[in-house]
Amino acid sequence: MKLAVIGTGYVGLVAGACFAETGNDVVCVDKDEAKIRLIRKGKMPIFEPGLEEVVKRNVAGKRLTFTTQLPKAVRSASVIMIAVGTPQGEDGSADLQHVLGVAREIAMAMNGYKVIVDKSTVPVGTANRVREVIRRETTYPFSVVSNPEFLKQGGAVADFFKPDRVVIGAEDEKAAEVMRNLYSPFTRTGAPIMVMDCASAELCKYAANALLATKISFMNEIANICELFGADVDQVRRAVGSDRRIGPSFLFPGTGYGGSCFPKDVKAIVKFTADKGYDFRIVKAVDAVNQLQKSILASKMEKHLGSLKGKTIAVWGLSFKPRTDDMREAPAVVLIERLLAAGARVQAFDPEAMPVAKRLFGNRIVLAPTSYKALEGADAMALVTEWNEFREPDFAKMRKAMKTPLIFDGRNIYSRDVMRTHGFQYFGIGR
Ligand code: NAD
Repeated sequence: MKLAVIGTGYVGLVAGACFAETGNDVVCVDKDEAKIRLIRKGKMPIFEPGLEEVVKRNVAGKRLTFTTQLPKAVRSASVIMIAVGTPQGEDGSADLQHVLGVAREIAMAMNGYKVIVDKSTVPVGTANRVREVIRRETTYPFSVVSNPEFLKQGGAVADFFKPDRVVIGAEDEKAAEVMRNLYSPFTRTGAPIMVMDCASAELCKYAANALLATKISFMNEIANICELFGADVDQVRRAVGSDRRIGPSFLFPGTGYGGSCFPKDVKAIVKFTADKGYDFRIVKAVDAVNQLQKSILASKMEKHLGSLKGKTIAVWGLSFKPRTDDMREAPAVVLIERLLAAGARVQAFDPEAMPVAKRLFGNRIVLAPTSYKALEGADAMALVTEWNEFREPDFAKMRKAMKTPLIFDGRNIYSRDVMRTHGFQYFGIGR
């Protein structure tokens, strides 16, 4: 099949590369000329495990190309995917200007029947709006499909190759069949391709993200309750998660969820349901709990250190989760801003997000070349992102580097007993 993917970000680049891997002829489009230039030079604009190999293999196989010329890409393709950003608007709604703008550009370039697939996360009803925009601009026939993407950053390529399910919202059988054919190589192990109406498909994505965010905020509250009663959240989590009706995933307490999806999607579902007169109370509370949780390490530090003015704080982990360099809405950003506002000096390290952190903070914080350098002379260390390389560090070396052996573990990755043996004063979340 000939595909055009509009928007070459986390979703568009991964989807484009993976569809090329199964033999399709894919052109990835982005309006960001610098990004396209970079990819054409063989450099990845994002860090995502396995992505570079898939991109390079398919570029070499001449199945994957990159352009800023949307009209030409649209004319060459029979399936066009919209994978542009839907950032949070000022009122919490999903900002659809990129999606609708691209829909219009696609319509103006059409030269025959096209299947136009919305892969961006969009509020319920957007497929209808996309259809209207296109109908206004062209007389060529087309189908609009809603195909929300469920990949996780940090494991995006693996998720794309082995999805739990593929959700397709289609109003006609012809378009549904095109989508089934496109995805069949990825679902050979039995993952279902679920075909439904567009509104249901659009809601699937928000319902899934809101439920996952609910699990996180719920466990963060349980962790707070554990601290009140002297209970251990790890024991509680294991017992609760072993119930097959609940399951063990997404029950780890921490410093709150971040990233480019959960925070904005949670706010967007609250907004588009409120627009219909519905008060989505649970999800509003999930968001409020998360805002508080992002400050939990700073609050714990203030409680134990008193004023943070003049104190040196080491921060391990800056990305919103491991295996990505994405710092959008990352808990580390909230923590660092609060530490700086309190007059602390911050020395930070992250295995992948240092260039992003440099752009965000400039010279306001020290970006250390190694995790141990970040600890030098520190009054305390905050572990914010659970990168694997932080799990089994040289504790003696850590202890030696720090001025005061005080650890605030925002992800509960260390054993309290081990930390005590090495002479650290240790604080986790809910234990
Ligand atoms: P991103 O910001 O990484 O990439 C979006 C790209 O679209 C950018 O490169 C931007 O330059 C480009 N773009 C914007 N307007 C354009 C235009 N008019 N023409 C051409 N290119 C244009 O975003 P992302 O993280 O890939 O997310 C895209 C969508 O997918 C969002 O709706 C998001 O909610 C959803 N989603 C994201 C993830 C994720 O993990 N990042 C997972 C599932 C779904």
